[in-house]
Amino acid sequence: MEKNSSIGCTVESCEHHAQSESYCTLNKINVGTHESNPKQIECTDCESFVCKSSTSSR
Ligand code: SF4
Repeated sequence: MEKNSSIGCTVESCEHHAQSESYCTLNKINVGTHESNPKQIECTDCESFVCKSSTSSR
């Protein structure tokens, strides 16, 4: 898959990660939060994350 050089990412366990390089392969991702009042970096989530092991193809 082609990397998106505008979206750097180090989450290699994600289905959308470029693997060989620290980038996402999606054209667009969605970032959100699981907190009602986010104040720290840990409060933010990539909502486009898909766990690699959760998909059977590959
Ligand atoms: S979808 Fe999110 S977590 Fe997955 S590779 Fe792209 S930026 Fe990283």
